[in-house]
Amino acid sequence: MDGSCNREMLSGYLANRLTLEDQLDFLIHVDSCSHCWDEVYNATKSKHPHYYKTTARQVKVSKQEMGEDEAFQEPEEVFEVA
Ligand SMILES: [Zn+2]
Repeated sequence: MDGSCNREMLSGYLANRLTLEDQLDFLIHVDSCSHCWDEVYNATKSKHPHYYKTTARQVKVSKQEMGEDEAFQEPEEVFEVA
């Protein structure tokens, strides 16, 4: 989905200024756009450093214990759709 990035939607989403309909449109786009996903991921991460630190440690531990890659998954459901 290259070429369909909408910077206004992105910044509006990060500022929590979008309507519900626009949020859904944007999330559908993010789902297929690694560029926008990175932007949202990094912005969300910087807002919740403790959460991500804790999660990273847990993933590392459980991965060692289980000894398989299945334990690692991208935290795709961290969007704050308030
Ligand atoms: Zn995009």
